[in-house]
Parts: sequence; C-alpha cells; structure tokens
Amino acid sequence: MAMISQKSSPFEHFKNAPIGICIIDPSNNKISYCNDRFIHKVGKVYQEVFKKNYIEVLGANWLLEDQLMSDILLNDSTAVRYIENPNQEQSFVESLLEITYSRIQLNGINRPGIALWAKYVYREISTTQKALPVHHEDSGGLINQLSKSNSFLSEVNARLRENHENLESAFDAGNLGSCGINFRTGEVTLSARGRSFFGLSEDANITWEVLLQAVDAAYHDEVNKAFSDAQKHGSPVDSTYSISHMVTHEKRWIRVLAKVHRDQNGQPSKVFGLVTDITDQKTDEQRKNDFIAMASHELKTPLTAVTGYIQMLLYQLRGTDLPIVQDLLKKSVRQLDKIASMIDTFIDVTEFETECIRIQPKVCDFKTLMEDVKEDVVVTFPSHQIVFSPIPSISIQADRQKITQVMMNLIGNAVKFSSPSSCVAVHITIHNTFIKIDVKDQGIGMSIDEVAKIFNKFYRVERNEPQKTPGFGIGLYICHQIIEKHKGKIWAESAIGLGSVFSFTLPIE
Ligand code: ADP
Repeated sequence: MAMISQKSSPFEHFKNAPIGICIIDPSNNKISYCNDRFIHKVGKVYQEVFKKNYIEVLGANWLLEDQLMSDILLNDSTAVRYIENPNQEQSFVESLLEITYSRIQLNGINRPGIALWAKYVYREISTTQKALPVHHEDSGGLINQLSKSNSFLSEVNARLRENHENLESAFDAGNLGSCGINFRTGEVTLSARGRSFFGLSEDANITWEVLLQAVDAAYHDEVNKAFSDAQKHGSPVDSTYSISHMVTHEKRWIRVLAKVHRDQNGQPSKVFGLVTDITDQKTDEQRKNDFIAMASHELKTPLTAVTGYIQMLLYQLRGTDLPIVQDLLKKSVRQLDKIASMIDTFIDVTEFETECIRIQPKVCDFKTLMEDVKEDVVVTFPSHQIVFSPIPSISIQADRQKITQVMMNLIGNAVKFSSPSSCVAVHITIHNTFIKIDVKDQGIGMSIDEVAKIFNKFYRVERNEPQKTPGFGIGLYICHQIIEKHKGKIWAESAIGLGSVFSFTLPIE
C-alpha cells in the first residue's frame, strides 16, 4: 500500500516523481490530483483532467471494473493495465502505457483513494499476436536500459532474419520472384529467381529499358501502360506478357502482380510485387484452346451440311400441302442456327485466348456500317422497338464485321434482358477525337457490383429466374476485347429495375 504524509498539500510528494501519477476518488470516480508527467503522458492539459471523471477524461480503456476496484480498496491488491499509445509511430516496437492501480491512504482524508502510476513500456510488434515481454522505462539506469534495448534489438533482428528466410522459402516453393521499381530513382530490383525467368545474371545491372528488351514487342504498349498507370495513378499492376529468354531465346510467359506504395504526401513512390513464370500454365491453356478450336471447326462442317440438307428439303416441299413437316423443318433450321452461333462464340474465345484474333481495321464509313446494323436488328429482334438517333457520316478505322458483332451483342442483350415491345435506343454522338455509341434499354438492370464484373470472361449475373436466360457470359468479354483492340473504351451503367446503358467509343481519324 502506498502511504503519504500530509505536508503543505497531500499531493506535493508526487509533483517531481519520475513517473506519471494520478489519484482517483472512488466515491465519485473524479480525478483528485495528477502530476505534470501524468498529464503529459495522456496528452492532455491540466484543466481537462483535474476534478473530471477519470473514464470521461481517459476513455473506457482505463475503466476499473467494480470487482477490481473493491479488491484494490478492500484487499489492498493492485491491478495493471496496458493501454496503446495513440501516437505510436511505425516501428518494430510499440510503446504502451502501463498503468498500475493501487490503493492510497491520504492523511487528512478519511477514505482511501486509488493511485494510478503511468509509465511507458515497450513491446515488440509481433505478427503472431503472442504477448511478448515488456521493457520498462524509468525502471533503472540508462545502462540498464541500453543493455535491455540491445538484447531486445538482437531478438528483433533474429526474428526479422527468420521471417526473411521463411518468406524466401515460401517464394521458392511458389516459384515466385520479387520485383520492384522506385519511381523517384528509377532503380529496378529483381530477386535471383525473377532474374532467372528473364535470363539475367545475378549481378546484371537492371533498368526498365533492359527488362523491356526481353518483352515481346506486341506487349510493349500494355506493359508501358501498366507502368505509367502505377506511377501516375497508383494503380495496382496485374500484367501478363510473353518474353524472349535473354540466354536461350525461348518464349516464356511472365505474370507480374504488384502494389504501389505512396510517400507521406500520398504520391506513388514505388511499386513492389511478385513476378512468376506461367509458361506451363499458358501451354496447358493453349492445348485446351487448340482442342476447343479444332472441335468447333470440326463440328461446323457437318452442321453446315445438315442445315443445307434441310434447306434443300424445304425447297423440295414448296408447294406441297405438308404444313407440319415444313414447320418442323423451319424450327430445326432455327435450332441449328443457334448451335452455329454458339460454336462461333467458342471459336471467337479461343482466337482471343491465343491472341490470333484477326482485327482488320480498314477505313470505312461509320454511317454505312450502322445503317447495315440497323437493318439487321429490325429483322433479328422484331419483339422490341429499336430506335437509332441520326447516324453521322464519318470515316473511321475499324473492322466492320467485328464492330457489327459488338452492336449485335449489345442490342441482343438489351432485348434479352428487357420486356417485349419495350424500347432499345441507340444514341450516337461525335466528340473531338472519338465517336460514342450508347445502347440504352428499359430492362431489369444490374447492381453496381454486378456491372463491375460483366466484362469478365464467363461472368453471368445470378438471378432467381424460373427460366434461365441462355448464354455463356462470353459476349461482353469479346466486345471488350474487340473495342480494346480498336483502341476504344467500353463500359456500362445500370440500376436494378431501371435498365442499362452500354457505351463504347471508337477513335476517329
Ligand atoms: P451472356 O448474355 O451470354 O450471358 P454476356 O457477356 O453478353 O453473356 O453478358 C454477361 C451478363 O451480363 C449476362 O448474363 C447478364 O446477366 C448481364 N447483362 C448483359 N447485358 C445486360 C443488360 N442489357 N441488362 C441486364 N443485364 C445484362
């Protein structure tokens, strides 16, 4: 039990104490006294503390539960609390305020008080959340402190070394390298494994230009864009590209996943992440794609033949009185058309996957292209009113067939996801450097989360529909690829129940 004698003031003794001390009156929980050190440690001024309720001033973390309070007062026990330092700077150790609660009998006051001793203690920040021993301030001489800090630092160093080794083993197990670029100095770092992917020696001086030399020319724009987006906007990097190994000249596939770090002003300062060789995975995908492409092409031949035979049968039956047979044959042709269009989608996807999509941009008149689409959609989607705003006559560089495919897909979706006879509006506007096309429907719409994913391959919105709308979740993925290849942009805006607007742009000459 702490005991003080009354002199001029019962609290005078605490004034110069080497630790922060505060006295609480347990009858009303008010702070009867606190020395300067205490005030400093809790980051307050005297007026904010003196005669104030200690929980209101110091926060709920300081609350002494009733049971503990009466234990201290009746049984003379002590309680210890650790409170996080809100001004903690980033460090390997964290400072905590260690508060000791103890009974104090003040002469002249006929009841016991609670004294709080506050001092800083330090603790290593542990990733395992395991409570590590605390190291005390004010508890001994400077030498004692230094030797404690020293052994503590060696402990921290050993732990860091161990973490580093663990991290390296994990990287090795995952065939991962690490890479980084400092935007200010231009310094490029690449771990030994990362270097081996490129065929760079361990002591080779690496710059961005050196790395770019290995990257296949077809990916230069993409890789440079990922770099400048990270540097300018702090965008995360997820980039897959092919390289030519600098020693063996083999084609390899590399994937880089990296995150941008910012300086104190919030400006991107460096990018750091993982680099991995995904050649095996790409080869597997390639085999699968080759198989799908081959099977799709093989399926198309007999399909075309069967469609031809049915058309011939229909021709033979013209003028005869066999309406049921004719109707069934027409239905068969429609089903065969559906199968043919699915097979075309598979072929498209495999072409994109294997990068051999043939975009053949040619100078063409936008008006003629859109007038053809307009004619087609009126016939293909008779269930809806499809309205076009005036179509300007302007020359663009585009692959007519692919842009028609995008339009048919967007209008097809607008029809598919809205009620019959509702309106689908196609709006065309010309801007300085591009032309913008909006396809607006009055359909079921989508949530913001769903809109964010619709251009992903195989993504379909989950809906509770008694009859599932047919589709593979590939159409918009292909539209996205086609528009990107045309150096345009595509996006969507939508709200559930209010319909959707799909927009894309195409650069103009
Ligand atoms: P598919 O329609 O073949 O499933 P898409 O890639 O064309 O594939 O579309 C992906 C998903 O986006 C669709 O399944 C649908 O849920 C949603 N979607 C596309 N267009 C619209 C639209 N106009 N209105 C509402 N949802 C749409």
